[in-house]
Amino acid sequence: MGKENFVEQIADIEKDFPRWYTDVVIKTGLVDYGPVKGTMVIRPYGYAIWENIQRELDSRFKATGHKNAYFPLLIPMSFFTKEAEHVEGFAPEVAVVTHAGGEELAEPLAIRPTSETIFGSMYSKWIQSYRDLPVLINQWANVMRWEKTTRPFLRTSEFLWQEGHTAHADEAEAVEETMKMLGVYKEFAENCLAIPVITGRKTEKEKFAGAVATYGMEAMMKDGKSLQAGTSHYLGQNFAKAFDIKFLDKDGVQKLVYTSSWGVSTRLIGALIMAHGDNRGLVLPPVVAPEQVVIVPIASKKPGVLEKCEEVKTALERAGVRVILDNTDNSPGWKFNEWEMKGVPLRIELGPRDIEAGKALVFRRDTLEKAEYSLDGLASTIKELLGTVQKDMLESARVRRDNRIVYADSVKGILDGVENGNFVKAGWCGCRDCEDKVKAETSATARVYAEGEHSETCAVCGKKAEHTVIFARAY
Ligand code: ZN
Repeated sequence: MGKENFVEQIADIEKDFPRWYTDVVIKTGLVDYGPVKGTMVIRPYGYAIWENIQRELDSRFKATGHKNAYFPLLIPMSFFTKEAEHVEGFAPEVAVVTHAGGEELAEPLAIRPTSETIFGSMYSKWIQSYRDLPVLINQWANVMRWEKTTRPFLRTSEFLWQEGHTAHADEAEAVEETMKMLGVYKEFAENCLAIPVITGRKTEKEKFAGAVATYGMEAMMKDGKSLQAGTSHYLGQNFAKAFDIKFLDKDGVQKLVYTSSWGVSTRLIGALIMAHGDNRGLVLPPVVAPEQVVIVPIASKKPGVLEKCEEVKTALERAGVRVILDNTDNSPGWKFNEWEMKGVPLRIELGPRDIEAGKALVFRRDTLEKAEYSLDGLASTIKELLGTVQKDMLESARVRRDNRIVYADSVKGILDGVENGNFVKAGWCGCRDCEDKVKAETSATARVYAEGEHSETCAVCGKKAEHTVIFARAY
């Protein structure tokens, strides 16, 4: 197949969304499949997005008083049995090391699926007095959860994430921390990823194993399914009891701490792809795009063209813009397709006629619009335009999502709603049977409680509703 035809290799987003997704992640060079089934290799283009995500989040964690640390990958299996719900929830997906150094180990070691237990064991050592609190630690790490069905970024046996683990003297402060970090995630998702999210509490069935309460943020993908983009857990004293994390309080009494944990992962890259992508490929928001601008010279052999391109590139770099000049010998048409597929937010086209007229043609990946701008002050024009693209992407994703939130008052209504690619708000009595029935009959799950909404009756059994729940099919 000729290079000019490569765009046809991406499946139609409307006709085959799952294949479109796979085509995009592979063909744009974000990831490749690892040799062990269920693993992914994050290639430089994908990793650059992750680095931008990390940088943005890390500065927010630090601004809210957290410090980074690194804990071991291996956790004694016995740690998992200390918290009953935790072990039950994670047992099916834990990978265990039983042999090392040519010998069978006396105690098998878990490869961390999450680190509450090892943080708990260390916190019990480090925390003695009220003066040691709060402890606010985050780690950037890999984790492993053995999955039967895997998809790059969405579900792989190993993935990258951050996990915050905090300990507090009282309940109110631990709850406040849980909600604060949920707020940090929401602000980040909206302002950096341009993905509008709905945050709220999860049902008992959907909560984290070992948590008192789990709060999630849910994002709508272009197929109408939901993707859980991050979670924040209030753990109460569950892990404090399991690991004996006690402190001597001001009143001279030994007390158990209250803990929280919160995390987001490389799943966010999957969210970016599916919230913004189109038939040409990726559409990346400027804040996390590896390259924010690509300069494509037209008739580059003509005198002065490459020089002017270099000049523009330097000016943009000085203005703090991530920019690439594509001076390879591929045709301009080929370059347009390539960089559009890779989702670069802006493209500057510069040819002899543009230069003569003192102008540049600028293409916006998000709207597919082209406009001419003066070469004078182009760098500041571009900076401003990147800000506009960032805002417009969030706004259009918000409009798209809000048009696809419907209400239902029956299981049939929920089914119709999700079949048509919507989030469905419905009343729920709070009982597990009704929640299970929705899942069995519609394949939709309770994502989060819709805050501030009060339904009269349960859509399943007709009894008094305790909550309004957002139901959706989910990744
Ligand atoms: Zn019910």
